[in-house]
Amino acid sequence: MEWYYAAGNDRRGPVTDDEFQTLIDQGVVNAQTLVWREPMPDWAPLAAAGRQPSPSSVPGTPAKFAAPCICAECGKPSSSADTVQIMGNDVCAGCKDRVLEKMRMGVSIGGTAWRDGKKLVIADGSQLPDQCVKCSLPAEGSRMKRKFLWHPPLVYIAFLVNILLYIILALCFRKTVKAEIGVCPGCRGRRVRDLFIGWLAFVSGLVVGFAGLANGAIWGWAGPVLFLFGVCWLVGRTQLLLPSRIKDGRAWLRGCHKDYLARLPEWTEL
Ligand SMILES: [Zn+2]
Ligand SMILES: [Zn+2]
Repeated sequence: MEWYYAAGNDRRGPVTDDEFQTLIDQGVVNAQTLVWREPMPDWAPLAAAGRQPSPSSVPGTPAKFAAPCICAECGKPSSSADTVQIMGNDVCAGCKDRVLEKMRMGVSIGGTAWRDGKKLVIADGSQLPDQCVKCSLPAEGSRMKRKFLWHPPLVYIAFLVNILLYIILALCFRKTVKAEIGVCPGCRGRRVRDLFIGWLAFVSGLVVGFAGLANGAIWGWAGPVLFLFGVCWLVGRTQLLLPSRIKDGRAWLRGCHKDYLARLPEWTEL
């Protein structure tokens, strides 16, 4: 039986079963090393290929098997048993296929932000550059923690049936991505002003509407108008970035400044 194994950027082998065992015992091939032999359908980490170090060498190796790994693609910690090494990078099981495909296409792995047309793509937990997403000027250290929520648009159909059903489905299917984004002091100030205008119209619309209704006064019609204006204003002007999709821990966001996007690498769909 002959084995092949990955070492850095190289494919090594074939080696005999005995030679392979020696490599394992020496630690050259460890639990995360990608290995292959007939009749495995694809390369897999040694741990998944059903091989262990021989008993005599075990005392020297447990640390390797227990060490926590950080995935080079998604940046999340991953247990060493679920981690594979690709070109010298630790990659979690969830990112393995993606990383292999990226390497085949010559796309660099890792990263936290990309551009996809007019949309900003960010990875969950990313810290975006010190640059304002709204005007692309330096953010001067001014950052905002945001949590983006999204659910598949089909869920909106439930809204037509029953609002409670909609809420339940939305909670079940929603996905979230958290990020720290740069927003310059100027844009922050404008947003506070817009929030104030929006809520003022919203609340005064309610007050005027109900007061008009109670008094049977014709000016009560101004209430719903003000109220609707407030809602549209809040939705249209105070959202920093609007998620249009969340998939595999990455969010597609609308509303980012074009110069900001221009500096980011292009997103590659795999
Ligand atoms: Zn990963
Ligand atoms: Zn700004």
